[in-house]
Amino acid sequence: MTFREYYTSTGEPENDRMVNMLENVCKAGKKEPLRIEGEVNEVNQKEIERVKNAMDSIDFEMLRELLDDMARRSGLSGEALNFLGKDRIILSTEQLNENVIRKGQYGLFENVIRIFPQGIVLALRDNIASELVKKMENSPNKTASMSLKEINITEERLKLKVLKSVIHEQVHALSFTKIVTKYTEGSLRRFIRIRGKNNFEGFYSVLSGYNKIFFDEDLEGMPSPNKDFIAFDEGVTEKIAFEILNKYLSVEGSDMPAAQVNELEENTKKETTYGLCLDLVDDVIRRVAKQSGFSEDSVWQAIKRSKLEGVNFEDTEIGAFFDESTYKGFFEKLRKLQTSDSKDIEHVQTCLRELDDDYVPKK
Ligand SMILES: [Zn+2]
Repeated sequence: MTFREYYTSTGEPENDRMVNMLENVCKAGKKEPLRIEGEVNEVNQKEIERVKNAMDSIDFEMLRELLDDMARRSGLSGEALNFLGKDRIILSTEQLNENVIRKGQYGLFENVIRIFPQGIVLALRDNIASELVKKMENSPNKTASMSLKEINITEERLKLKVLKSVIHEQVHALSFTKIVTKYTEGSLRRFIRIRGKNNFEGFYSVLSGYNKIFFDEDLEGMPSPNKDFIAFDEGVTEKIAFEILNKYLSVEGSDMPAAQVNELEENTKKETTYGLCLDLVDDVIRRVAKQSGFSEDSVWQAIKRSKLEGVNFEDTEIGAFFDESTYKGFFEKLRKLQTSDSKDIEHVQTCLRELDDDYVPKK
């Protein structure tokens, strides 16, 4: 099987020439890996350089083997594994959406990973700053000898953060992807001219792991996406990413202290709602395991496999099964949860936890 499939809106496989054009919109030449996208100036130059160095310290061959191993364990042949090398990784100084500070993004259509050096550094700085403030508040004599000026992002911390972002996006990249296009030569050329970049014109729907995106028109007639099962998909992605990160560090024989990985996990939970999505996945696993009689690990392996294989929730009895294992209406609720709906995600978690009389929080 292949991990990426393209179809026309009439259900025919998209012709190879179009697919090649699409897939090579952003790809860099072999001699030009880690292409930089966007303006480089005095402000961001240093961050780009540091993130580039961190990226260079990542063992991509090993990472590929670990992801390949995971795919094989899930019963999938690794041959067609969509692992993205440095020619498909872009360091971007352009934030695509002003409302969220991004650290990474998987460009579904162009099949590239974007890493945002400023987003990475900013998130790290925020984490360290909040730690410092906490320490200052707790210091007995309140001398506050530590100041925000001391915020020093070590190379080790930076590498860990970059590595984690790269792994997260690689997991998206190797999740089964089905793209349905309605491209004409003209719209494809337009897409290529602006090198992808969140331009949805020409796409009908996309399945990426559990996340199904349909493009409806907004008030101005521009395509605007509806995202189904995105919070669940991000939670699963994040859970896999942490599994791979831990394996990577243990194989590398890294002397990275476990405490630092835990710290990264904790901070990830504070930084974004992805931590909530991660907890949500754990709640679903626990509940389904309990109701089905399978072990939590078997349920998790099945969820993982379905993401890589591309399960279509519409074609199966899964919805009914999910509702039976949880409560009526759960599956539809899960479909509509967006990653930014922190209140709603928490509400669903509470509902799931209330079903278990013997639920004990992890920490
Ligand atoms: Zn993601």
